[in-house]
Order: sequence, then C-alpha cells, then structure tokens
Amino acid sequence: MTDRNTSVTMKWSFRFARVAGIDIAVHATFALLLGWIALTVWRTTQSGSAVLQGLAFVLTLFACVVLHELGHALTARHFGIRTRSITLLPIGGVAAMEKMPEDPKQEMLVAIAGPMVNVAIAIVIGLWISLNNIAPPDVNADTSQLFGSPAAFLYSLLSINLILAIFNMLPAFPMDGGRVLRAALAMRMEHHLATIRAAKIGQSMAVVLFFLGFFYSPILMLISVFIWFAAGAESGAEQLRHSLNRVSPRQAMISRFDLLHGGDMLQRALDLTLQTDQKNFPVQFADGSLHALSQKDMLAALRSDGEQVRLHSLSLPPLECCDIHEPMEQVLDRIQHQSNPIIGVTDEAKLCGVIHLENIMELVRIDEARDAWREGSGRTL
Ligand SMILES: [Zn+2]
Repeated sequence: MTDRNTSVTMKWSFRFARVAGIDIAVHATFALLLGWIALTVWRTTQSGSAVLQGLAFVLTLFACVVLHELGHALTARHFGIRTRSITLLPIGGVAAMEKMPEDPKQEMLVAIAGPMVNVAIAIVIGLWISLNNIAPPDVNADTSQLFGSPAAFLYSLLSINLILAIFNMLPAFPMDGGRVLRAALAMRMEHHLATIRAAKIGQSMAVVLFFLGFFYSPILMLISVFIWFAAGAESGAEQLRHSLNRVSPRQAMISRFDLLHGGDMLQRALDLTLQTDQKNFPVQFADGSLHALSQKDMLAALRSDGEQVRLHSLSLPPLECCDIHEPMEQVLDRIQHQSNPIIGVTDEAKLCGVIHLENIMELVRIDEARDAWREGSGRTL
C-alpha cells in the first residue's frame, strides 16, 4: 500500500519469490497478522474451515498488494529506476526503489500505477462475475461460511481492491495519493518546498486516520503512525539534500582553524581547546601526512600518556579529506561513515579548511529558517 525509498533490505524479511528481477519478501511480523486474523475468525465462528477460508482470503489479498507494488516497480523501471525488493508487512507492501523520479510527471505515473492495478483487478473480477452471472452472496448467510462460497470470495475481493485503490489515493504523503499531490505541487514550486507541503498535509491526514482507526481498526492506527513518521523522514531528507546542493565545502568549512604538528606536545592541543572554540584538530606530521586528533582521543591520550607526550608518538588516525569542489551530499556521507568528527578540505592538495558535522547541521537549520521566511512572506528568490 505504501512505498518508501529504502537502500537497505529490511531486517527480518524472508525472500520467497523473484519476479522480473525483483525480490519478493515477507516480513516476519506478517505472521502476526495471519495469527490475528485466524484468532479473530475463530473467536466469532469457532470453525476451522472458516479460519482456513479467512487465511486464504488474506493471502489472495496480499497477492493483489504484490501486484500493486509491481505496478509501481515496473512503471519506475520504464523510467530507468530499479527496484531491489518488494516486502510485505502487516500494513501493506513496501517497494524499495532506488529513488523516485525527479520529473514530477514521471513520479505521478509511478505513483498512480499501483492503485490502477487494483482498479484493473476489480474490473477483471467484475467482468468474471457478470459473464458467469454470479449473484451477490446472501448477507444473512451463516457467518462460519465467511468466504465459503466463490460468490462471497469474489465480491469481497472486488470491493477490497476498490477500497485499496481509493485508500492509497488519499493525499497522505508518502502514500500514492500523497506522491501524486507532491508531483502536482512540484510542477508549480520548487521540489523540496512541494515535498515539505505534501508532508505537512500527509501528517494532518495521519492524525485524522489515527482517530478513525481508534474507533474502527487498529491496522489503520498502525498505518497512520507509519505515514506520520515516513512523511517526516522524507521531508527532512529532502530538505537536507536541498540545503546541501546549495552550498559547497568552501562555504561550509571553517577556514580559521589551528593546525597542529607532529612535534607538538599534547599540552598545546589542550591549551587550544580551552582558549578557542576548536575541539578537534588536524595534525600534520613531518612527512606531510595529515592526521586527526579528536577530543575523545585527546582525553584518552592525556589519561594514558600525560600532557608532555608528542603528537607523532600517538597512533592518530589519518585525516579524511575532501576536495573544495566536492558535492556536499558526498561530504556529509563521508563524515557520517567515519569515526572522526571532522573532515579536512583541500584545495589543490593543500589543507585549507575543516568541516565538522555540526557545521553542516547549522547550514541546514539556517536554510530551513530561510525557507520558512520565504513561504511565510510568499516571496520567490
Ligand atoms: Zn502504492
């Protein structure tokens, strides 16, 4: 029912099929849903065959969910975007696509393809029903024969596919309808502003769905919580990407910093930490190589070797460096994947600045505030 851009395969999921090069997997928690259905049916009917019919119905329904996700995945593939896997969760299916198309028209088609599959399934079932003159099931029938007759099974499957199509088209970003909304907004405003607005609408929808779920369905409550967090996460990631695209390492870096040398004593680093704002230092050894001295390593060295120790006698990790023209998204990725809190910035192989994770976060906060002002005053810069 919902899609998300995930780069990692979900934990606790088990692959059971492969269609068009896409792994189809089921999450372990899916067993909870089957157990819950079996229990609910058993409590109302006390009939083993009704339980089996209920489970068969749920499995058929989830086959429709897989087809829905394949609708997204194959449309995305048409635009050159791969999907690694489709995972079934109790709240629906999640297609792990590499990304969503940047072009709003393409995103709209990818988003709409899923619900259209459900509409197509409903039409096929409807045609089958009318060609075979299958009468609607008797609503007063024995409840132990919930999906016992082919008529009951088919009519239920038809209506639930229509419900799936309608539900997914609700403008609750990042659900399909919300993605259509975002794409429509993105045709009139900047992509990241469209995402932020769609995510806000999505979160408001999530609140409404949560209260509806409170009265009608615990699964709806779960879905609304998922929508709330997924909308927040996607909007945050989009804002971050946008902010990063606007700056270069030259703007993000601290150009006034103290460079230590291998021959310096640890005491110098401690003095500078107290006298300046700098907490982590680049250290240049006599052979020209650059190393990083983090505050954590500084305190550990102070405990074990005292403040008179020379920096070159400590086993300092090399300082990871980026070029002054490197895209900021890549720089952030590198800072996040190393244990050091700083990264050096080089211009023609010469160290000219350092970037701290905190510098990047500051930039993003400034950018967010600037966007909020622009939204509020209705200006476009
Ligand atoms: Zn979908």
